[in-house]
Amino acid sequence: MSETPLIEVSRLSRSYFGEGTETKALQNVSLRITTGQYVSIMGASGSGKSTLLHLLGLLDRPTGGTYLLKGQDTSQLTDEQLATTRNEELGFVFQSFHLLPRASVLQNVMLPLHYSSVPQSEHEERATGVLKSVHMDHRLHHRPDQLSGGEKQRTAIARALVNNPPILFADEPTGNLDSKTGETVMDVLDTLHSQGRTIIVITHDSHAAARAEHTFRLHDGKLMDTETREAHNHE
Ligand code: ADP
Ligand code: MG
Repeated sequence: MSETPLIEVSRLSRSYFGEGTETKALQNVSLRITTGQYVSIMGASGSGKSTLLHLLGLLDRPTGGTYLLKGQDTSQLTDEQLATTRNEELGFVFQSFHLLPRASVLQNVMLPLHYSSVPQSEHEERATGVLKSVHMDHRLHHRPDQLSGGEKQRTAIARALVNNPPILFADEPTGNLDSKTGETVMDVLDTLHSQGRTIIVITHDSHAAARAEHTFRLHDGKLMDTETREAHNHE
């Protein structure tokens, strides 16, 4: 099988420059991710995990190396094409939720649809359906400050999924949650993976990381080793 990998990066690097110094946040990282894979990224604080996720998620551009997404060289894409790809193909979940504080749960989840081709008349039904799938349909008109941490993250996941992207990125999605609530959020990711989505999750919880089929480890901006598991080891 010589299928084109979904994601293929070669010697990807990202340096930050300031005050005459160079911070090599990521150095010569090469990896492949195939469609439908569930991948976790681990590493100490400052090891370059978020930098890598931002590059893979087209939120940032590398200072070296290449990134092919579905075989397409992303360095050839204009900012507008990158934005379209992000909106249609990629979903993002962050540690601190990034919900709009003054908007309701429903409004937060409907927001990405304004930039999509989904007709306005279908937005509410679509958002409600996704919220139902993460068991949040009983909180449609709450504001974020009226939600528990787990409910906030489930809302953020619904927002990430409302355009039905095939790839979901999560940067320490359980970092602000207690371990029990974190488990329920990781359960949602498992379900999404079983539905065929590609999941790429950063975590420093080895228990959470072990849910993935494949783990990449970063150390000082370099890819150290990778680990592949036979199957999911749920407990
Ligand atoms: P992680 O997510 O693993 O904690 P990051 O990718 O956020 O690590 O950061 C990797 C390194 O790059 C760190 O040394 C961090 O201080 C540095 N860094 C991250 N973002 C910036 C930035 N915008 N400007 C300068 N340095 C940065
Ligand atoms: Mg980080």
